[in-house]
Amino acid sequence: MYSCSGVETINSDKPRVILLGGGLAGLRCAQQLVTEHGLSTENIVLLEASTRIGGRIRTDKSFIEGFSLDLGAELLHGDQTSLYRLAEEKGWKMEELISLAQGDGGPLPADSNDGYANTVGAALEDTSLAGTCYVEHEWDVDGDRTFVLQGSLGQVVDELSAGLESCIQTDWPVSKVEFTASGLATVTCRDGRIEQGTHVVSALPLSVLQDGDVEFVPPLPEAKLAAFQHMGLCSIVKVILKFDRRVLPPLLHGCICSESFIPEFWFRHLPNLPEGGYTMLAVGFAAGPRADAVTSVKPKEALKKALDQLDDMFRGRKWLEGGGCTGKGDWEETVEVHTGIAPEHCEPRRETSVSGGQGEGTLAELPSSAYVGGLVHDWVKDEPFVRGGYCYPRIGFDETTHAHLAASVNGTLFFAGEHTNTPTGTTVHAAIDSGDRAASGVLQAVQRAQKERASGTAAQIP
Ligand SMILES: Cc1cc2nc3c(=O)[nH]c(=O)nc-3n(C[C@H](O)[C@H](O)[C@H](O)COP(=O)(O)OP(=O)(O)OC[C@H]3O[C@@H](n4cnc5c(N)ncnc54)[C@H](O)[C@@H]3O)c2cc1C
Repeated sequence: MYSCSGVETINSDKPRVILLGGGLAGLRCAQQLVTEHGLSTENIVLLEASTRIGGRIRTDKSFIEGFSLDLGAELLHGDQTSLYRLAEEKGWKMEELISLAQGDGGPLPADSNDGYANTVGAALEDTSLAGTCYVEHEWDVDGDRTFVLQGSLGQVVDELSAGLESCIQTDWPVSKVEFTASGLATVTCRDGRIEQGTHVVSALPLSVLQDGDVEFVPPLPEAKLAAFQHMGLCSIVKVILKFDRRVLPPLLHGCICSESFIPEFWFRHLPNLPEGGYTMLAVGFAAGPRADAVTSVKPKEALKKALDQLDDMFRGRKWLEGGGCTGKGDWEETVEVHTGIAPEHCEPRRETSVSGGQGEGTLAELPSSAYVGGLVHDWVKDEPFVRGGYCYPRIGFDETTHAHLAASVNGTLFFAGEHTNTPTGTTVHAAIDSGDRAASGVLQAVQRAQKERASGTAAQIP
C-alpha cells in the first residue's frame, strides 16, 4: 500500500515507480513502463513541477487562432530517429525544410566559412571542442534532414501521455529524494507532500540537477556530480513575428544571419487557417550568448529590432514564383550547387493559390508593412523549471560523461532526459530515447527485486 501521508509499508509484490519531470523523457519512460513492460498505471506516478506537461515542448494556441504554435522545440532533426518513426507510424504530415546551415543539421556546403551554428548554442569559451566533435557525429547517425510537423510537436506530448492521465500530478515540484539500496524511495514536494515507491526515475532538466533544486539522500556519486558540471544547458529565446500577408516567398525556409541581432530565422506559411486569410510567421531563434543579448532588451524592443532586421535583409531583393529571394544569386541554383538536392525536393513548400504576390518581381512590400504582432519566449526566465534550451559539452566533457549522467544509483534511482542520452542529447528524440533506456533499466531492477523477494527478502519502509 502506498501513501502520500505517512502509511508505513509498501506492498512488496508490486513495484511502484515515481517519475520526476513531465517532459518527453519522463512521459516516454512512463508510457513504456505501461505499454511495453506491463506495469499498471496504478503502479506509476509522474510528478511535474509546473502546471502543464511537455517541458520544452510547449504549444501556444492563442497567438494564432486555429494554429498550435511551438514556443519550444519545433523541428524534427533527421529521418533515422525514433521521433521520425513515430511521426510516420502516426501518419502525421511533415514538411521538409532545406537549410544551407550546418546549425540546423542541414547540409553544409564544403566551402562554407560560416561561424554560426546553433546545434551547440553556447559561448565558445565555455564549450569543449573535442566534445563538440564527438557529439556532432550524431547528425550523421540521425540523418541530415530536417522536418516540421503540420500542426505542432504538442502532438508528441499528447501521444506519449495518452492513457497516463490518472498517474500524472502537475504542480508538484520535487525538493527531496531519499532512496535506499533495497529499492525503497521517498520523494518530497516543496510543500511537504510525500510519495513513496520502489524505484525513482529522474527526468529532470540538467539545470535543476546542477543547481541542486532537488536534494538526493544519500548524495549522488562524485562521478555523476562531476558529469553534471561537464555539460551545460544553453540559453534560448524565440522571437516570433506574425504577418497577415505573404511578404516572403514560400520556398524561403530560413536564413542564417550570424552577425545580426537575430542570428537565425525560419519561416512558416499558414494559408489555410479556419479564421481565413493568410498568416506568415518568421521565427527568430537565438541561443547561448546571442540569446542573452536578445533577452537583455525589453520584449517590445526585441520585436522591433527583429522586424527592422527583416526589412533590412529583404529590402530591394527580387523573388521568383515558386522560388526564393534573389540578390546575390538564384536561391534554387544555390541549393542545388551546394547540396546536390534538386529544388523539386522542396515541393511541399510550394503554394500556388495564395494572395500576396505571384510571379516574378521585386519584393513588393517590406515585411514590416504586413506585421500584425509578435511574441518573445525566453526559455531561461519564462520557464523557471527548465531554465534553458538543450545541453552542450563543456570543458571536462569526455566520452564517459553521458554514461555517468545516465548511470543508475543503487538499482533504485534512474536517470533520463536529453542530457543523459548517448552519444548526444540536445534533441527531442534524444529525450524520447533516454526514456526508453530508463524504462528498460527499471524493468530489469524490478525483475531483480522480484527474484530477491521470491527468495524471501521483502522491502519495507521503516
Ligand atoms: C526553444 C527550444 C527549441 C528547441 N528546438 C528543438 C528542435 O527544433 N528540435 C529538437 O529535437 N529539439 C529541440 N529542442 C530541445 C528539446 O526540446 C529538448 O531536448 C527536449 O524536449 C528535452 O526533453 P526532456 O524530457 O529531457 O526535458 P524537459 O522537457 O525539460 O522536461 C523536464 C521536466 O521536468 C520538470 N521539472 C523541473 N524541475 C522539477 C522538479 N523539481 N520537480 C518536478 N518536475 C520538475 C520541468 O518542468 C519539465 O517539464 C529545443 C529546446 C528549446 C527550449
